Amino acid sequence: MTNFWDLINIEEFWDKRLYFSEERGEVTFYCKDCKDIVEVERPQAGGYTFICKVCGGKNIAIWTKQWLIEMYKLKK
Ligand SMILES: [Zn+2]
Repeated sequence: MTNFWDLINIEEFWDKRLYFSEERGEVTFYCKDCKDIVEVERPQAGGYTFICKVCGGKNIAIWTKQWLIEMYKLKK
């Protein structure tokens, strides 16, 4: 299976953030290493690098919470 997250163009996503925000709720960060929704650090303000506060990794997907719950069958 193609890793869907690797296909996301983050800058493109950012341009569409208002659409997603209105459509599906708040933007949420998902750590692919922790396999859970996590808090992140953003070392460069306005930058596109996010670091997981749990494991320190950068394997972060950004999407709306509702979408992540559906995608990964997370508990609400
Ligand atoms: Zn993590």
